[in-house]
Amino acid sequence: SVTLSRFSAWFGATPALHNIELHVPSQSVMAIIGPSGSGKSTVLRAINRLNDGLPGVRHAGSILLGDEDIYASTVNPSVLRQRVGMVFQRSNPFPRSVRDNVAYGPQLNRRLRGRELDDVVEYALRRAALWDEVKDRLRQDARTLSGGQQQRLCIARALANDPEVLLLDEPSSALDPHGTQRIEELVYDLRQQLTILIVTHNLHQAARVADRTALLVDGVLVEEAPSSRLFTRPADSRTEAFITGRF
Ligand code: ATP
Ligand code: MG
Repeated sequence: SVTLSRFSAWFGATPALHNIELHVPSQSVMAIIGPSGSGKSTVLRAINRLNDGLPGVRHAGSILLGDEDIYASTVNPSVLRQRVGMVFQRSNPFPRSVRDNVAYGPQLNRRLRGRELDDVVEYALRRAALWDEVKDRLRQDARTLSGGQQQRLCIARALANDPEVLLLDEPSSALDPHGTQRIEELVYDLRQQLTILIVTHNLHQAARVADRTALLVDGVLVEEAPSSRLFTRPADSRTEAFITGRF
């Protein structure tokens, strides 16, 4: 599970997130929706401690992974990032082979080689529902894959470290309807194994794949509820305005 408690973040003097309270249970999917610039990517980056190194960044409050505070001084950010896989907004495969994209993490982090590494690569590609399509193309440059396949390759790359949490920032924004559906099916299947947070501009997608949905506006969490409820009976007037396109 992932739990944000009174979590706030600033870029210099500019507040980006304000007292966020959010609990994402294990084996569930949380969608984060909201206008551009509302702080959605900042929330995901906070869970991976990717905002840390940026100049002028400050934060307050806590984020727990299970019951462990990820900002504790004992936590090594690069080990944390193996436990919290991320697919970035505008993710791209590395300009390397299909196999090397997936092998990169386990090779670096777990020092796997040879047969063991091949097995991990196959397993990650299977989990990302990509194995059958690429098993004969493992040595090809990843950029020869279709856009939807490249996106699933980025998911496989994140899964190769066997994370507890998967963060997906707009994973299907560049895909056609079929590619989008493949990603949604994948997210739906993966929820049985992981805690998933997905940022999306596609409200139908949030309704389809997420158990719960949270709306961010100007760094404030306006409403968080079961998706089926939030999209049909919003409790906050700002949620109603957002989901009816009046934002
Ligand atoms: P979008 O839907 O356009 O991706 P978002 O909801 O993901 O938007 P964020 O990227 O989280 O928005 O940005 C939230 C706010 O924080 C914005 O005002 C943005 O300009 C600001 N911000 C984000 N990263 C930085 C940074 N490194 N330095 C300064 N300001 C930043
Ligand atoms: Mg963003």
